[in-house]
Amino acid sequence: MAGTSQNLLGMTRGDLESLFADMGEKPFRARQVMQWIYGRSVYELDQMTDLSVALRQSLADRLTFDLPEIQQREDATDGVVKWQLRAGHKQAIEMVFIPEETRGTLCVSSQVGCAMDCPFCATGRQGFNRNLSADEIVGQVMLARQELGADATQRISNIVFMGMGEPLANLRAVTRAADILLDDLGFGLSRRRVTISTSGLVPQIRKLAETSNVALAVSLHAPNDELRDRLVPINRRYPIDELLLACWDYARSANLKDVTFEYVMLAGVNDSLDHARQLARLLANRPAKVNLIPFNPFPGTRYRCSSEARIREFQEIVMAGGLIATVRKTRGDDIDAACGQLAGKVLDRTRRSQRLSKQLQRT
Ligand code: SAH
Ligand code: SF4
Repeated sequence: MAGTSQNLLGMTRGDLESLFADMGEKPFRARQVMQWIYGRSVYELDQMTDLSVALRQSLADRLTFDLPEIQQREDATDGVVKWQLRAGHKQAIEMVFIPEETRGTLCVSSQVGCAMDCPFCATGRQGFNRNLSADEIVGQVMLARQELGADATQRISNIVFMGMGEPLANLRAVTRAADILLDDLGFGLSRRRVTISTSGLVPQIRKLAETSNVALAVSLHAPNDELRDRLVPINRRYPIDELLLACWDYARSANLKDVTFEYVMLAGVNDSLDHARQLARLLANRPAKVNLIPFNPFPGTRYRCSSEARIREFQEIVMAGGLIATVRKTRGDDIDAACGQLAGKVLDRTRRSQRLSKQLQRT
């Protein structure tokens, strides 16, 4: 970004209104600019013909319009598309589009790497470098819209923060981006079609509840603290009972029918029938549904995916407990675009042992 100018893409309607107020302009200018960008896909200030030439010029002095730069695009045989996007010198993040019959889901990244260190996740193995800014997050959606062609706006019906990174460790940028995704003058998505997935940062779930009501998914992955401490190390700080309380409070304040609990199926680790029973007991009679994710392997991992038969038995037990349990379809695995396979390019800035505590202090 040049000088002190700001990237238009990360600016919420409120930011634009304040900018115009500072410039002595009327707040409705914000509406005009957003309509050009998100409504008509016009990004050049000098084409925004309902603004005076003088105003366009002074905006041009303050604002830029920067989209992320594509380093690589891969198209899987099942229609999944994965983009590797430049995230500064020698680094890259990944974004994935998953077309289905009834919807199209764009999976965006929120950080360059991730500090949470879950041992079964390729992103976690790479380490953490930095948070993405709101404009880098909104920029992913904008870019996907451009890349997917004429009917892209209809094709991208859902956005999930399930790419690289822990979105709630970057709460400020993620909520600003979500604001633009939900704004009628932005992408105009319904709040049920924007999902934040978290490994379970309890204070940040509570903070999210103060400003947002988007859908929430939680990476549970284990039905007891002893196992979850190993699989999702943040559990050592925020154990299951605290996490679940925060989830129920979030569901209530955001008026959600349920929170989705993600559960990766790891052979011989968390997939016994007893684990299934424990899981069903933990979530029974709560606003919860379960999404079982077959483990997706990546180079160097010691984990294996549970058998199909075991996944089905596990699902049946959870359902017998009165819960909705679905099995996530593995998509895009021929281009390593499936859940947990996104690695991008990350220059790890923190030594593993110090990473988690440092990052949490900042959020
Ligand atoms: N950091 C966030 C969102 C990113 S990942 C989170 O952890 O919730 C989206 C989902 O994929 C999470 O539930 C994550 O735990 C899961 N996942 C990670 N690695 C995986 C793998 N190798 N196979 C299957 N799912 C994986
Ligand atoms: Fe980070 Fe989520 Fe991967 Fe855990 S599963 S390391 S929180 S991206």
